[in-house]
Amino acid sequence: MLGGMQDHRLRVMHLLDHAEREHGSREIVTHWADGRETRTDWAGIADEARRLAQALEGLGLKPSDRVATLAMNHARHLTAWYGAIGMGGVIHTINPRLFDEQIVYIANHAEDRVLFYDNAFAPLVERLKPQFTSIEHYVAFDSPEWDALLAPYDGDYQWHDGDERDPCMLCYTSGTTGNPKGVLYEHRSTMLHAMAEVAPSVFNLSCQAVALPVVPMFHAAAWGLPFAGPLAGAKFVFSAVNDPKVLCRLMNEEKVTHSAGVPTVWLAMFQHMDETGQKPEHLKLVTIGGSAAPRAMVERLMRMGIRVGHAWGMTETSPIGTMGAPPHDWDELSFEEQVDVVCKQGRVPFGVELRVVDDEGRVQPRDGQSSGRLQVRGPWVIKRYFKADTDAAEADQWFDTGDVAVLHPDGTMQITDRSKDVIKSGGEWISSVELENAAVGCPGVAEAAAIGVYHPKWDERPLLLVVKKPGAEVSASDVIAHLADKVAKWWLPDEVLFVDSLPHTATGKLLKTALREQYRDYRLK
Ligand code: ADP
Repeated sequence: MLGGMQDHRLRVMHLLDHAEREHGSREIVTHWADGRETRTDWAGIADEARRLAQALEGLGLKPSDRVATLAMNHARHLTAWYGAIGMGGVIHTINPRLFDEQIVYIANHAEDRVLFYDNAFAPLVERLKPQFTSIEHYVAFDSPEWDALLAPYDGDYQWHDGDERDPCMLCYTSGTTGNPKGVLYEHRSTMLHAMAEVAPSVFNLSCQAVALPVVPMFHAAAWGLPFAGPLAGAKFVFSAVNDPKVLCRLMNEEKVTHSAGVPTVWLAMFQHMDETGQKPEHLKLVTIGGSAAPRAMVERLMRMGIRVGHAWGMTETSPIGTMGAPPHDWDELSFEEQVDVVCKQGRVPFGVELRVVDDEGRVQPRDGQSSGRLQVRGPWVIKRYFKADTDAAEADQWFDTGDVAVLHPDGTMQITDRSKDVIKSGGEWISSVELENAAVGCPGVAEAAAIGVYHPKWDERPLLLVVKKPGAEVSASDVIAHLADKVAKWWLPDEVLFVDSLPHTATGKLLKTALREQYRDYRLK
């Protein structure tokens, strides 16, 4: 027997329809790379998205086709998301900070048919064009090409309808060894995620919110904000540049109440505040995620009267997994205790389940002590990577995050380590295994281990520990010079340390946990 309610599918375009109908004049402000500022609103985005959907169909695109972007945050990027999804397509945000081979691999693997890009990335696009195998159309967002593409269309368009399990967005994650892997979000997962996200204990969004996502739209879908914003009717302020001077001015002029970004962003903002005496005056909630929020950062923001939401998640979880929101007894806690709460990674919203298991897969108690592999499941958690042959999640849907954590009795999760071999610098991944493999190719190097160590600006930076071959003469600069043409410049280790030996597991693998522990307090020169 079925119930008696309407068959109203959870399709992403309902978000934009709602924003247009109920919050049509709520503004979307963009600060462009060339310094221009433009304003549109939800009605304007919806109109342009309909015309873009028509244009994409005019180019011959069919439902499920992938439309890629290489772009920073701005209104046209938002329009591209909704235009592509609106015609039944899949928006595929490519991270322009990846290196060439990865971008080429990702675009070809995704079989992108159209690429929208910022003029700032034109040299990158020109360089890679000969290697892209599926892209038929290139359109620069900030150029007359965009207007020319839309000009013939009138916006008289009905969004493509379909199943709620249809795909709508594709995001690749990279970092560990091997090729980047695609996570294919669907309409239903994206809708449920957006509905969870506006809640007071998550992003606390309403039509009173003015949100400036510093987190790029190519980084785990700007943490879902471009979907949660229209649901709430929030105003958006986008900046295509991440200059703290611009961000601080925009925050004050546009009365920004909500912002979100990786820790590095807030460090840059603090430096600007110290130098100029300016500060964002209207901020109420700052979400920090992507890497652990340092205590001093949490404290400083809280002393400014700003609530800090410490979020944990990953591309595979759409990305919200947990959020450090005030618990029921918040008002009874001292300031120090409140900071303690926020420094942990928080609790799950409805829809996400967490557990910690030991190496044998035994579920560990929520006692604040037992640490183990963090696993997650829920309707917006990955089941299978794009085009993979087997599921990424286990049969009972638990997905292993590669993070190591403890769960406290009240459900608060605390990340304690990482089992995946990656270093996270300024919110972006560096593969320690690839660094090691490249380093052992250097004459005189017997073995190498790369680990992330604390860095005041980038959160983590690579430290390379090297064991020399007996009698070999090799210097730190030799190793760096050897790596220079093998990895991206920003992957190069900040320091190379020569050691007599490295610890190994019983099976002969590098014992990274021991190394990370040993160098926990190491400070780069
Ligand atoms: P994102 O950077 O958007 O969270 P990624 O998929 O690039 O998404 O990275 C996910 C990983 O980043 C997590 O598995 C975890 O290792 C790390 N991470 C994310 N948020 C936090 C946090 N608040 N504290 C510690 N580590 C985090």
